[in-house]
Amino acid sequence: MNFDLTDEQRMWRKAVHDFVAREVKPKAHEVDESAQFNWDAVRKMGSLGLLGLNVPEGYGGAGVDAISAAIAIEELGWGCGSTALSVCAHNGLGCAPIALFGTEAQKERFLPRAASGDGGLSALALTEPGAGSDLKGGISTRAEMQDSEWVINGAKMWCTNASIADFIVTLVRTDPNKGSRSLSMIIVPVDTPGLHIGPPEKKMGLKGCPTHAVTYEGVRLSADHLLGEEGLGLKQTLIVLDGGRIGIGAISVGLAQAAFEEALQYAKERQTFGKHLADHQAIQWMLADAATEIESARLMIRYAAWLKEEGRPYTKVAAMAKLFATEMAERVCRNAMQIFGGYGYSREYPVELMYRDARLMTIGEGTSEMQRMVIARQVLTQ
Ligand SMILES: Cc1cc2nc3c(=O)[nH]c(=O)nc-3n(C[C@H](O)[C@H](O)[C@H](O)COP(=O)(O)OP(=O)(O)OC[C@H]3O[C@@H](n4cnc5c(N)ncnc54)[C@H](O)[C@@H]3O)c2cc1C
Repeated sequence: MNFDLTDEQRMWRKAVHDFVAREVKPKAHEVDESAQFNWDAVRKMGSLGLLGLNVPEGYGGAGVDAISAAIAIEELGWGCGSTALSVCAHNGLGCAPIALFGTEAQKERFLPRAASGDGGLSALALTEPGAGSDLKGGISTRAEMQDSEWVINGAKMWCTNASIADFIVTLVRTDPNKGSRSLSMIIVPVDTPGLHIGPPEKKMGLKGCPTHAVTYEGVRLSADHLLGEEGLGLKQTLIVLDGGRIGIGAISVGLAQAAFEEALQYAKERQTFGKHLADHQAIQWMLADAATEIESARLMIRYAAWLKEEGRPYTKVAAMAKLFATEMAERVCRNAMQIFGGYGYSREYPVELMYRDARLMTIGEGTSEMQRMVIARQVLTQ
């Protein structure tokens, strides 16, 4: 693996950084306070390629390499946690399964519009009121074949982007008797009768990233909405989540970088006991630890992305990178608040928002405990 970015990746990073600095970061506070999704910025992301990171150029996407995709998501995380999570889920959870497992007809129908920024975004509904970490045993949303149509009944929980999506890739149980081959993915357009999207969930952070409960009451879809192979839904989900974890880790690196920059600046300005905070060793050590951990997490994310791009196994490294980056972001944002003292706790200053946004990252797309289970399974069988 080359530790340096290529010229192309460096130019891409700069283009995304400049866009985020102009269109996304200045709105982060307002997005949080108003709990409004930043459509103005997201509409402009289509032409930059940010809404089709994994979508091949033939279907209107940017089709960038996995390191470039991680770089883009990190930059978005640096700008605004809410906007980053929506765009990350759209690319990694909504579009990716269609790009990976879709038929030609499905790719042509759903991907160009999703990547363009002219329509809605996309979503993935795995979690249910009674099942999150244990998808295999817990999923109760059912899809049954009746008169050549799938009929879906059930409920999903915590679906990112549901209210701003054109379609929701939904994990359903198609045949309860088939054990690990009993789950399948179905693409559900949001205007299908019987699909109900609940009000936005009231969350600690990420308020400008809409999250909803979704219910399916006799949702009927033709057979060609099945995504991938019947019975392979769990396997497909695990493949999608491997990639998704690079995204969540990348958002975390971006959030930590942003909090670090704020703390560094503040430490150079604020004075106590006749010197700047930055001249106190206790503060220097917090900054040194933050810089070290951010760099480590960034390298882990890029290593996982590089393995993915090379077509090599990356489940273990993606889980390690997600675990480390998300827990790192919480520590770095926590210490950034500490450096700001009382102002760190104020909503008038930026770091408390980063802290609240970062808190989700150790929970979404597999909790830290699930990452440790994945890693332990891999190291114990090596
Ligand atoms: C803001 C937000 C956005 C989300 N977006 C999406 C989305 O777009 N799509 C989607 O499908 N889901 C989404 N989720 C759901 C998220 O992925 C789940 O919340 C997460 O996977 C955990 O599932 P759970 O909440 O059911 O917790 P549970 O599975 O009930 O776990 C509860 C706790 O027990 C621990 N635990 C469980 N089993 C074990 C075990 N065997 N050993 C040790 N500890 C264990 C867990 O780590 C956790 O700490 C989102 C959640 C939030 C909050």
